[in-house]
Amino acid sequence: MCPVILESAPLSRLCIHTITTKPWSIEEAATRYASAGVQGITVWRDALNGRDIAQTGRMLRKTGLSVVSLCRGGFFASPEKEKRRLAIDDNRKAIEEAFLLGAPLIVLVCGADPGQSLDESRKQIKDGIAELIPEAEAAKVKLAIEPLHPMYADSRSAINTLTQANDLAEALQSPQVGVAVDVYHLWWDPRLEEEIDRCGRNNNLLAFHVCDWKTPTVDLLNDRGLMGEGCIPLKTIRSWVEKAGFGGFIEVEIFSLEYWKMDQWEFLKRIVSTYEKFV
Ligand code: ZN
Repeated sequence: MCPVILESAPLSRLCIHTITTKPWSIEEAATRYASAGVQGITVWRDALNGRDIAQTGRMLRKTGLSVVSLCRGGFFASPEKEKRRLAIDDNRKAIEEAFLLGAPLIVLVCGADPGQSLDESRKQIKDGIAELIPEAEAAKVKLAIEPLHPMYADSRSAINTLTQANDLAEALQSPQVGVAVDVYHLWWDPRLEEEIDRCGRNNNLLAFHVCDWKTPTVDLLNDRGLMGEGCIPLKTIRSWVEKAGFGGFIEVEIFSLEYWKMDQWEFLKRIVSTYEKFV
């Protein structure tokens, strides 16, 4: 692998996840993102609480933003049948929400349970996604399997590498199902370049999420870094994703107790400047 020096990613491809600026309501986030020149928004479901979803979708588009995806569905794995059933119901609700919002994609955090084997969780994940395909198709909403870093294999996802996500997406054989590549979860994988290529060849590359990996990481969930602050080779990974044919939005997804304490407008300006410099 030779390091790839690319031109900066264009501002027109920047999308931000609402959870990145968690202290803001979705209305405030939309106005602020648009005034900072951001053109895409990925909506976390909690941001929709208490709102008319179709109306919120119209508000976002009126602000000039493209709705890139809805986060998140999944959590299919459980030793208890009733919990698996509830998860399917909740995913059906997510598909309906995405339809009303006008989001073409739902990101799936697939789930895992420490009370059963990873293999068992993987079977349940596959069955769960398969059950949702007809509804996703009817709503014209795609489902993106997001592999999560192995540190979350106990309770958040039994799908931990892009190889596993590609295997699963290909086994499900549906144009509704593909994969989300999040650099935070995948940057360490020696097979990443070839698996991104495979994902593109199969038309399964549906989303690209960025942030950075800090050293030390002091919180397993809420200590993601701003782009350029850590050790993830963002430009190199972006070059692989683009070589694989992906030309969609580049989504900034940062959960950070530290940054949520900051003035969010200052934080947003840093997101834009570090995106332009390091992605
Ligand atoms: Zn992600």
